[in-house]
Amino acid sequence: MEKKNIDWGNLGFSYMETDKRFVSNFKDGAWDEGALISDGNVTMSECACVLQYAQTCFEGLKAYTTEDGHIVTFRPDLNAERMEASAKRLEMPVFPKERFIDAVVQVVAANEAYVPPFGSGATLYLRPYMYGKNAVIGVKPADEFEFRVFCTPVGPYFKGGVKPLTIRVSDFDRAAPNGTGHIKAGLNYAMSLHAIVSAHEEGYDENMYLDPKTRTKVEETGGANFLFVTKDNKVVTPKSGSILPSITRRSLVHVAKEYLGLEAEEREVYLGEVKDFAECGLCGTAAVISPVGKIVDHGREICLPSGMTQMGPVTKKLYDTLTGIQMGRIKAPEGWIKVIK
Ligand SMILES: *Cc1c(COP(=O)(O)O)cnc(C)c1O
Repeated sequence: MEKKNIDWGNLGFSYMETDKRFVSNFKDGAWDEGALISDGNVTMSECACVLQYAQTCFEGLKAYTTEDGHIVTFRPDLNAERMEASAKRLEMPVFPKERFIDAVVQVVAANEAYVPPFGSGATLYLRPYMYGKNAVIGVKPADEFEFRVFCTPVGPYFKGGVKPLTIRVSDFDRAAPNGTGHIKAGLNYAMSLHAIVSAHEEGYDENMYLDPKTRTKVEETGGANFLFVTKDNKVVTPKSGSILPSITRRSLVHVAKEYLGLEAEEREVYLGEVKDFAECGLCGTAAVISPVGKIVDHGREICLPSGMTQMGPVTKKLYDTLTGIQMGRIKAPEGWIKVIK
């Protein structure tokens, strides 16, 4: 397979149109069989439910080339399950798990020329999503939906080395109590746009959101879960009903316990105890873990002992082990790696 002539190492995180995408439509109570198509544009009613009332959810995962030359994805079954939960909460029909995985496989195989080579640090980012497509003006769910998976090659996350982030405690909330924080709904991101733009304007990389009810506990950032390490090397992740269950974070907790022999605990984390942690990282598909060096709470600076130049030692071990599993250097737990080719 001839690869596209792309400068893999210098790709950023932006959309590049690729050759094929998978589309399936839901109408009269059933999904059609779906197909790979070439058209990267969508045509729909000006009154489509997604355009008026934001009835849409999405997923994100990567395909990449392993050290021994296979093209694989990481735990796509969990993306399928999470999208099922999102769809149910948004009154959308479930796209069946086996079909979701098959659609991902088809899209990667059809765009093999865009799968970055091993060692480039780049990956093929996959974006499955679903939205209410027919015209709806009175507030109610759509009854016609489109499920689509497209892909786009994206560059290495840590270009020019790891740089710990500086984040601020946000005065905005990303989720409501009993709201939609735990599902991957587009509306959660619409809510976060003003907060991230104003964070960037003030010189911060990200927002730390607190629990919307009491504003005393750590939730997550706009698109990544927190992982903390205590001074005695215990891994702690915040527990809350309004955190999006990151597949990366759940995988890192498994790695901490089963591969590194560390204790790991999911529990409520108070903002007041953050100053006592040794390390802090943000977990998500894009970066696996981005280290946090500094957290600013309204002028009060919390500087993590791991500093502003590198990952802390436990974060680094977690990162190296999980990326080793993903790249095939370290034996993966059963079912984690879906081989496409
Ligand atoms: C997608 C997402 C994450 C990261 O989840 P992964 O499955 O690890 O990519 C974290 N928080 C939010 C709000 C998200 O939307």
